[in-house]
Amino acid sequence: MSLLRLHHSSHHEWLVGGCLLLLLGLFASAVAGGQPGIETVPVQLLASPEQGGSRPSVTADGQGLAVGGNPGGVVARMHFTLPQRTDRDNPWVVWIERKPVERVQLVRDDWRSDPREFFAPRAGAGPLPTGYVFELPYGWQGDIDLELHATGKLPAVLRPRVIANAEAWRVERQGVAISAMVYATLFTLALLALALFSAARDRLFLTLFGCATLTLLTFSAVNGHLYQVRGLRWLAGWGVQGLLALQFLLCAALPQLLLRYAGTRRVHSAIARGIDIACVAMAVLAAVCLLDLQPLVRWLQLLAVLARVACALACLGLVLDAARRRLPMAWPLAILAMLTIAAGVARQLMLWGYLQDFPWVRSGDQVALAAAMAILAVGVISRISDYRDQRDRDQLARLDSERRMQREAARSDLNAALQVKLRSCTEGDIEWTAFHLLLEHLVPLVRADKAVVLARGYHGQDVQVAVPASRKDEAEALVSQRELSLKRHAANGIPLQQPLSVGDAGGLAMEALVPLPIRAPAWGMLLLERAGGEGFTTEELALAGEFIRLVLVHVDQALTAIQLRRSAELDALTGTFNRRTIDQWLVRSFGEAERDGQPISVLFVDMDHFKAINDKYGHACGDHCLRAVAQALRTALGEGDLLGRYGGEEFIAVLPARGGAAARMVGEQLRGDIERLRLEWEGQPLRLTVSVGVAIRLRDERPAETIDRADKALYAAKRGGRNCVHVAPAVFS
Ligand code: GH3
Ligand code: MG
Ligand code: MG
Repeated sequence: MSLLRLHHSSHHEWLVGGCLLLLLGLFASAVAGGQPGIETVPVQLLASPEQGGSRPSVTADGQGLAVGGNPGGVVARMHFTLPQRTDRDNPWVVWIERKPVERVQLVRDDWRSDPREFFAPRAGAGPLPTGYVFELPYGWQGDIDLELHATGKLPAVLRPRVIANAEAWRVERQGVAISAMVYATLFTLALLALALFSAARDRLFLTLFGCATLTLLTFSAVNGHLYQVRGLRWLAGWGVQGLLALQFLLCAALPQLLLRYAGTRRVHSAIARGIDIACVAMAVLAAVCLLDLQPLVRWLQLLAVLARVACALACLGLVLDAARRRLPMAWPLAILAMLTIAAGVARQLMLWGYLQDFPWVRSGDQVALAAAMAILAVGVISRISDYRDQRDRDQLARLDSERRMQREAARSDLNAALQVKLRSCTEGDIEWTAFHLLLEHLVPLVRADKAVVLARGYHGQDVQVAVPASRKDEAEALVSQRELSLKRHAANGIPLQQPLSVGDAGGLAMEALVPLPIRAPAWGMLLLERAGGEGFTTEELALAGEFIRLVLVHVDQALTAIQLRRSAELDALTGTFNRRTIDQWLVRSFGEAERDGQPISVLFVDMDHFKAINDKYGHACGDHCLRAVAQALRTALGEGDLLGRYGGEEFIAVLPARGGAAARMVGEQLRGDIERLRLEWEGQPLRLTVSVGVAIRLRDERPAETIDRADKALYAAKRGGRNCVHVAPAVFS
């Protein structure tokens, strides 16, 4: 977010732009500094008699010679007066601004200078010559007349100056400094663009590289420096046409770079298409130039001027559009584009002779364009922060979805674990098991180092679970100290966290308290502790709350299931098994007895004259008696024996692994226990007795048959006078 804001901030943009202009200004003042030349001799140019004609080649002020109009070359007479020279090492020289003329030479009756050629610079002129320097013989003084011969295809005006050699070198050095800066800037930009392309794989950087390289080539060709480079001398073969070709190519490349920078293709696709077509046309014209067709030279020159004007307008339009859309660095770029255009116009005027030759006029457009490209580079480099933002956003989104998936998985894991584990829990273990599962699943997710969950009075129980188990005692002690404040927090119902100092060393930890949403007066709390100062996120606390709710729902469900099961299995009045359950158990127990070859007995216990009790004391008393008898029977029976209410006032007992005498003994025991039972109803003593019918399972006998025999045995006991035990024979006669 802050990155984005910085990226679009105009301060940032103007700061970079301002710094760049400041650097340029410093450089300019360094180059322009120094003493201006004082040793200058005024020169008068006169049109050569044989060249007079209708188009005078000497300018109106008599100081410039126009070339480019006449294919055979032009000649002018130079007249000047040389003062006496005192310094042998500092002779007079004729210095002429280096313009793209193919040949310049000075001639006097008895003397003739070496010709200077734009496309074939002399080795002695230095690597980046600014002008054509003709050293005059030391002995010359007084009135001097020279002929200036020049041949050139491009229109240009030569202004010869007669100055001291030292002054000529000062001008040369100044020109070298300016050109070197422009070349170095473009060269660095090209390298940088290439490096950025290999890093970011954005074609924009490749376009920037191409433009910087092409600009470097074009400038060095226009300045005549390209032909000094050993490997590139062959380019001079194309002469003026080569220069024009490079200019056409540059005019095609610059709008392409700006198109990509400004993203115009997306915004104004029709304009972008128009520019594309114009650029293709210019590339074709560049190819035509390289065909070196002499008759076309004049037309191509004219077209080159038009191409430059069109390119300037297109670039300006694109940059202004980018600035309107607040693209990075677009405003400084727009200003520099205007400066470049103004400087280009000034240079052209200078070439045509309307302006004096000043270093800054000669190279101003090159300096401005190099600066503009540097600014543009800053603008496109800011795209890298866009990539980084995009990548960061992607990464965050991925992490987020990973985390969400991890949490979703943990939640369903917890859900499954609760379902499986709580089902097999006994009633008293449910809460403990559920809280244990909660911590097991939650703690790794929220990166807690210690966690305690406690509940007070929850389903009538106090439960407390702590992890790691090794620090359980410590956690318990801590919780019991803080119980009161924890209870207060729990009543708020809102999760909160606070820093803690832990250990004697004063280490820092964060503690989160998440209340359990359980009904008062019960309360509960989850405590999470994380070492270090990093707090728990809202998301983590929300997750803890969600897990807690899930666990509580499962605990409730498990308890309800247990209660349901109980009511389905048990007889509501006596709490012994009901008939359905006993029937199921009988089938299972008979199966086991059969498999193990063990005996098994069934006892029917029926209360004697129970109807009379109901009739005499009422049903409530009858129920009371039923409960008391069930209780007494349960107490008398062993752990593995089953007791159920089979109907009305009739109980059934199943005794696995006992038969014969053992079963009869149990029957006697039951009967005796009931007989000895002392009950009261509304102050009156009640005496109860039971009759017992015993049947021991016979070989291959099914439960129904054994029960039938037990029933018959009971009937026999009733008939035998009640309050007695009767064992069923194998067959009733
Ligand atoms: P005996 O078995 O000794 O022959 O006599 P009895 O009076 O016990 O026999 P009977 O089977 O005729 O009577 C059973 C009585 O048990 C009838 C009914 O009023 C009573 N009874 C059955 N179920 C309940 C019950 O759930 N509560 C109460 N209070 N009485 C019940
Ligand atoms: Mg009875
Ligand atoms: Mg009965």
